[in-house]
Amino acid sequence: MRLENRIALITGAGRGIGRAVAEHYGREGARVAVADLDYSTAQEVAEHINSAGGSAMALAMDVTDEQAVERGVNSVVEAWGGLDIVLANAGIQHIAPLDQLSFNHWRQVMSVHLDGAFLLTRSALQAMYAKGGGTILYMGSVHSLEASPLKAPYVAAKHGMLGLCRAVAKEGAEHGVRSNIICPGFVRTPLVDKQIPEQAQALGISEEDVISKVMLKNTVDGEFTTLADVSELAVYLAAFPSAALTGQSIVVSHGWHMQ
Ligand code: NAD
Repeated sequence: MRLENRIALITGAGRGIGRAVAEHYGREGARVAVADLDYSTAQEVAEHINSAGGSAMALAMDVTDEQAVERGVNSVVEAWGGLDIVLANAGIQHIAPLDQLSFNHWRQVMSVHLDGAFLLTRSALQAMYAKGGGTILYMGSVHSLEASPLKAPYVAAKHGMLGLCRAVAKEGAEHGVRSNIICPGFVRTPLVDKQIPEQAQALGISEEDVISKVMLKNTVDGEFTTLADVSELAVYLAAFPSAALTGQSIVVSHGWHMQ
């Protein structure tokens, strides 16, 4: 097992990509704190990991709430004695053209991704510096590296997460902390399923065309990236044995974006 005895915390882990990573970490021997705004889904995932022979706890955590993030990180450190891996994964999407985007929606998307990533990073670094190191991972996106129409706050926030990741790699190095950002293409989760009809309406095309002509158009094979693809990369980055791999964005997107 590649993550034996490691202690991990994942935000937005009640469903979708976060859930897949939490379960994969559990199978690889990590103790996993499953954090989500929706506590009932976090509990379900933690129970699933425990019943499969792993070790997990559920945390109620709104990543935009400073106290909730600090409380969550502290409770993991108190219960399990440290924190080795965190993944800032919680995310939302809002589809709208820029000229009609409300300030409220702009702030919501920026806050979940960027405030959330900052607050988790700060608390995690305090715990990791105290123990001599750790790994901070971010769930970025191909949209950390390029743009699409109708997703301005998401694109801006995901680019911001790349900057935060690089800053953490620079500052964290002397404390043994590595930082990397995972950049997936489209993965079929509730976040993506919701935006298919929204984009179809905004662009005046069918849902099938949103999938084939917008989402998967630039892939090499017309395939969605899978939960397994992303969680395998999250395990690889968490398990990587040295600081040779830090400050990097790793794209997993069927060739949609090549860097
Ligand atoms: P999802 O909607 O299936 O899951 C998101 C989870 O985050 C939910 O469980 C939700 O309750 C939680 N969440 C939302 N706001 C929160 C908050 N304020 N505090 C704590 N938890 C909160 O989405 P997903 O597709 O699994 O996306 C997970 C991450 O992966 C996001 O950061 C997303 O931007 C990123 N991503 C997704 C795709 C994709 O195609 N699905 C591609 C690239 C990147």
